[in-house]
Amino acid sequence: MKCIVCHGEDIQVTEVKEEIKVDNDIVYVSIQTPVCRVCGERYYDRRTIQFLEEVEEKLKQGRSGLQEVGKVLVYG
Ligand SMILES: [Zn+2]
Repeated sequence: MKCIVCHGEDIQVTEVKEEIKVDNDIVYVSIQTPVCRVCGERYYDRRTIQFLEEVEEKLKQGRSGLQEVGKVLVYG
């Protein structure tokens, strides 16, 4: 598999933290997905996209089970 962005061939399944925005909050969701080691482009398969959509839907209904690890701040 070649990266469609940089045409690099070093794409490996990596654990990444995907950001999901809920109102003014950002929730990081750990997923395993192929990532281009050269340019950082992430390749999601259909199952991963579906999983992220499910998580997003759940977060809209309630935020139980989440842990606060930092704050999102706005400058200016
Ligand atoms: Zn790339």
